[in-house]
Amino acid sequence: MKRIGDVLTTISIPIGPASRTAARADPRPACARCQDAGWVRLEVPVNHPNFGKLFPCDCKIQEQRERARDSLKRLSNLEAFQQHSFDDFDVVEGTEDAYDEVLAFANEPSGWLYLHGGCGVGKTHLAVAAGLHIRRTNQNVLFAVVPDLLDHLRATFDPGRGVAYDDRFNAIRSAFLLILDDLGTENTTPWAREKLYQLINHRYNERLPTIITSNQEHKLIDERILSRLLDTHLTRDIKLDALDYRRRGRADYFRASRR
Ligand SMILES: [Zn+2]
Repeated sequence: MKRIGDVLTTISIPIGPASRTAARADPRPACARCQDAGWVRLEVPVNHPNFGKLFPCDCKIQEQRERARDSLKRLSNLEAFQQHSFDDFDVVEGTEDAYDEVLAFANEPSGWLYLHGGCGVGKTHLAVAAGLHIRRTNQNVLFAVVPDLLDHLRATFDPGRGVAYDDRFNAIRSAFLLILDDLGTENTTPWAREKLYQLINHRYNERLPTIITSNQEHKLIDERILSRLLDTHLTRDIKLDALDYRRRGRADYFRASRR
């Protein structure tokens, strides 16, 4: 009679391709780290302050990042301005230099453009034209009307979900090109003012391509922002001085800008 130990050594246990195929058919969690729970506990000693606490898993952080990117895309909404290309721009007296400068920037984005002048002189049109042009080679272009942007940040700011908010804010401040339309018309609560300053200061320190439009007098713009805006080492200061662009029979422009 064979001893049980000898029997066991002769039994072949299928650990080859057959068992791997069987395992693949099983519905396994997409994330091995958190088993799709979205949260993990850190491996820390019992007396560590983070012991037993739940932290978002990398997969959850990634998901939040993607959601933040999508929501920025919706906020940016350059699609609504497809007819604001350089070709669609009516170059009239008082806008020639601005047109040339913005086109040069679009071909080689660097530094800042500060487009200012009265209402309806074509600032937004040129800024958007640059955005659409640059987006052909780099998708990471954000266009935002300043008051809308600050509303968006306020609406998404939730101290309990800091990661999502920080990601959103980082995505905005680090976009390849950021277009801030209508500076100076924003609600100036201290919180909004601080956020806008942080955003602009980051782009200033990092020398990131940025276009800012405004029809406001300098005294209505935050001094800290203005001093950066008027730094001639970084910014090309472009004044548009034309008759109201929208009153010159450009009905399509008028319709688009009211969207
Ligand atoms: Zn996970």
